[in-house]
Amino acid sequence: MSDRPIMHVVSMSGGKDSTATALMALEMHGHENCRFVFADTGNEHAQTYEYALDYLPSMLGIKVDVVKADFSDEFATKRANLARLAAGEPESAVYGKRKFQYPWTAEAAAKALELLHPTGNPYLDMCMLKGGFPSRKRQFCTQYLKTEPLTEYALDLIDSGYAVWSWQGVRIDESDSRRTRLQGTGACVKAFDVVGGGLFNYRPILRWHVEDVFEAHAIAGIQPNPLYRQGMNRVGCMPCINAAKAELAEIARRFPEEVERVAEWERLVSSVTRPRSPVSFFHMGTQGHSGQASTIWAVVEWSKTTRGGRQYDLLEPTYDAKACSSAYGLCE
Ligand code: SF4
Repeated sequence: MSDRPIMHVVSMSGGKDSTATALMALEMHGHENCRFVFADTGNEHAQTYEYALDYLPSMLGIKVDVVKADFSDEFATKRANLARLAAGEPESAVYGKRKFQYPWTAEAAAKALELLHPTGNPYLDMCMLKGGFPSRKRQFCTQYLKTEPLTEYALDLIDSGYAVWSWQGVRIDESDSRRTRLQGTGACVKAFDVVGGGLFNYRPILRWHVEDVFEAHAIAGIQPNPLYRQGMNRVGCMPCINAAKAELAEIARRFPEEVERVAEWERLVSSVTRPRSPVSFFHMGTQGHSGQASTIWAVVEWSKTTRGGRQYDLLEPTYDAKACSSAYGLCE
């Protein structure tokens, strides 16, 4: 352990686990030794912004810093490449020997060049630059939108003389995939580890159950994110590329404006991507749905079907979109 003063940094997502983690950090180390930081993906629900950036700061007497990925340099590079293609240079001159399935034409490059500008929304900017949306196999969103900006935040604190404990609100029983990922090798998962260079990871709620998390909220007099009472079993991106079928149906029923926003993103990302490249928020095959037209609207239609995908759930229209349907049993 170093002689530097320790700053305890909690990454806030607006979700229950990071909130419980923040409550513990405050209880153990006090306001003066803690920092709170929110990585804004640009793809969060308004209720999550309100909860993480207004409700929690006012209830806990804390300041939550916001970090955002910035892609200005990558836009400059991509625009320069598109300008060369639009001027008629061959792809090999721009990208070297690499072969692409869907080559650019000068006309398509010129059209993309007109539309490819930073929007200031990190999620959308990232997808325009990548020429598509992340998927379960290529989950680059977490790295670009969360890990990198949060690491920079921690490194700035280290540069200013602190040792940083990065408090991570992960729990082994949060999901099957996390359980497998954390325990699948049979290795002991550590609640504390040394990253090096003055950075340490601390996972204080690693072995908590979901009931413990909500109990911590109740003891502190803090409400959980209201989205948990609206059918969401996790909060974060709205939607997340890993959203379950039922969750997507719930999002479409309650928050159709979020689906419309993503549909608009699909259209814009398509316009700045190689001609004929498939561009859809949910990747075919990764959500268990089939069919060629996997735009978000097509996937939403699929999400309303019963298992097997063809038959529409006859009970579906009787659901009240405003009714409480917490996936955590918060409400009777
Ligand atoms: S919440 Fe989902 S979509 Fe958002 S960054 Fe994480 S994995 Fe990607």
